Amino acid sequence: MTKNSFFSPVVGQLVPYVPGEQPKLVNLVKLNTNENPYPPSPKVVVAIAQAAQHGLQLYPDPEATVLRQAIATQHGLAAEHVFMGNGSDEVLAHAFFAFFQQGCPLLMPDISYSFYQVYCRLYGIKVKVVPLDGALRLQVADYACSAGDSVAGVVIANPNAPTGVGLPLGDIETLLKVHPGRVVLVDEAYVDFGGQSAVGLIARYPNLLVVHTLSKSRSLAGLRIGYACGQTHLIEALERVKNSFNSYPLDRLAIAGGVAACEDVAYFEQTRHAVMSSREGLMLALEDLGFSVLPSQTNFIFVCHPKADAAQLAASLRQRGILVRHFKQARIDQYLRISIGTPHQSDQLVAALTAILPIQ
Ligand code: PMP
Repeated sequence: MTKNSFFSPVVGQLVPYVPGEQPKLVNLVKLNTNENPYPPSPKVVVAIAQAAQHGLQLYPDPEATVLRQAIATQHGLAAEHVFMGNGSDEVLAHAFFAFFQQGCPLLMPDISYSFYQVYCRLYGIKVKVVPLDGALRLQVADYACSAGDSVAGVVIANPNAPTGVGLPLGDIETLLKVHPGRVVLVDEAYVDFGGQSAVGLIARYPNLLVVHTLSKSRSLAGLRIGYACGQTHLIEALERVKNSFNSYPLDRLAIAGGVAACEDVAYFEQTRHAVMSSREGLMLALEDLGFSVLPSQTNFIFVCHPKADAAQLAASLRQRGILVRHFKQARIDQYLRISIGTPHQSDQLVAALTAILPIQ
């Protein structure tokens, strides 16, 4: 615990999230933070430039109404089923605050997005980790509760991060039915790269909250736009938290750029398919080099090599100007998470690994 006489008691006990490196060096092959290798739609850049011409002296729309409507339309929902935030990290934080401070444990996988546990510390939420199985897959049967057990809710990423493995919708429905009185939060940050979205279940399940981001499949990590979809009673709770924290989470440029990104469906389809097709090529190339590769429905792959230490591999790649992500965490410390880059970046990665790996 870090101590400082100015800290309030909770601050010393926080274990802050550590984001992947954002290097100052140029020309690195950056495959460590699951960004999209393609820039956003050119229409986004035009929309932002236009928005910058007018009205920056004025606060933005606190409800980001036009963007909220564009997102709702895209999902076939009404605008009141959508909550907007400054990146999905902020949306997740508000959801944890709104739904999971119940005095009993929140269920989540042992291997998942590490920010979930950070929010729990911040808000004093108890956690019960449910281990993934030996193949790093989530088994919904492990989330069943015995009579008398109370839980604060369930949070999962689907597809999961950092494994990349997706769950079928039937499993999400099982979770929703097992925990009817609590929120089941499904973080779909990567769903557009081949996963199955639970948004279509919202009308039938009052306990379902689905969280999305424009950072990955819309190439807008730099603009900070995230959102949640759910029935109105859940959205209302999120609005109450947001309006007790920051009325204007989305600025005028983000709102304009976000709308343009949602409208350019052709660009979205083209770039996400390019990423998925590079992923398949890279998986085969890495398997040829002796890696085990988990099945991926995301814009990254999770790999390990039987003859090479993962931390050393990451360090050797870094020396060659290639960044990948290694987690010093039990069960996954021999894995690397590699974001899908352009085909050229994949070639650079494979060439570097071929040079580094011990001869078979
Ligand atoms: N959920 C998951 C599973 C993620 O990997 C990330 C990206 N680090 C986020 C949410 C947050 O994304 P953003 O805040 O950029 O929307």
